Amino acid sequence: MQKSLLMIPGPVEVDPDVLEVMGRPTDGHTSSAFIETFGACLEGLRDVFAAPDGMPFVIAGSGTFAMELAVANLIEPGDRAVVVETGYFSWRMADVLTRHGAQVEQVGAEVGHAPSLEDVEAALKKGAKVLTVTHVDTSTGVCAPVKDYAALARRYNALVVVDGVCAVAGQEFRQTEWDVDVCLTGSQKALAVPPGLALVMARPRAIEAFKARKTPVASYYADWGLWLPIMQAYMDRKPAYFATPAVNLVAALAESVKQINAEGMEARWARHRRLSNAFKAGAAALGLDQIPVTEDLRAVTLTTLYFPEGVDGSLLKRISAAGVSLAGGLYPTIKTRYFRVGHMGVNGIGELLRTLSAIEQGLGVQSGAGVAAAQQEWLK
Ligand SMILES: *Cc1c(COP(=O)(O)O)cnc(C)c1O
Repeated sequence: MQKSLLMIPGPVEVDPDVLEVMGRPTDGHTSSAFIETFGACLEGLRDVFAAPDGMPFVIAGSGTFAMELAVANLIEPGDRAVVVETGYFSWRMADVLTRHGAQVEQVGAEVGHAPSLEDVEAALKKGAKVLTVTHVDTSTGVCAPVKDYAALARRYNALVVVDGVCAVAGQEFRQTEWDVDVCLTGSQKALAVPPGLALVMARPRAIEAFKARKTPVASYYADWGLWLPIMQAYMDRKPAYFATPAVNLVAALAESVKQINAEGMEARWARHRRLSNAFKAGAAALGLDQIPVTEDLRAVTLTTLYFPEGVDGSLLKRISAAGVSLAGGLYPTIKTRYFRVGHMGVNGIGELLRTLSAIEQGLGVQSGAGVAAAQQEWLK
């Protein structure tokens, strides 16, 4: 039987060339071949984040560890942090901040919305070392206006940390131009690599804030001070060791970064947007409502859809039987009322039409209306 199509918001389908590279014999971490692979990968990531002045960190761990990598190095006990709250992963960020001793203020909004600039400004006015924003909250599908929040934070001298786990390499994001200090992600979302790597891009203001710390970083493994010379050494094509890198995963990431930069970020963002528009048109034609309330709040990397009247979570089992894996709800108050479809990475229109077809089969719709509407939008 054909392998089912993985259309959850991470992990995602991985290109066969990336898997092939990952399965090659493991190199030594200081071999000249691996030094070249890792060095080129780190440099390539600056293009992916649109951060020519960024310092990249790639360390074994999931996206959550990337969150901790950002927080542990910037926060000292007692620092104030403002969290733009758009769902599950904002709460996680608040937890990580609290764990590292921050005084956290969350600025929230109703599910499907993002907090107003006025509300965020009111919190920043009280003083904050850091403002955190989840670019795309994977629990709600809400895409936050990162650029506007970042401009606001700059006025109040707060560092901007963006959780880009479900966004980087899929959703338009220009770290330097938007003046975001730190952006983080994991390998298994729009970077289209198997899970296992935490990525952080830190710009000069963040590195300076780290260097100005008065207290040591509480986590040994997450300490930028220990990793920075290592990342720099790989970029300088020199051997270095602090803790063994995930050699095979880094090779896979390097291959994917090469593919991403061959496509080009502008083209890649445009492809994701076009695919997202086609998928959303297909879902609308099937009468499925989205959680984000307005068009500009809707992520391009995933779509979150309420079950129609009289339909429950068993729909996902029927869709799975039709060959496509989708994800259930995650946001507590509506958890059982919706499902999530990831469409990031290497997908083309074919995968999205197959997904819509499986949803139609699950719903018992015979008209092909979703597939047709998606085709129509795609061919516009
Ligand atoms: C997936 C995700 C995370 C967590 O990543 P893990 O790899 O599961 O630890 C954090 N933030 C966002 C926005 C995510 O989508």
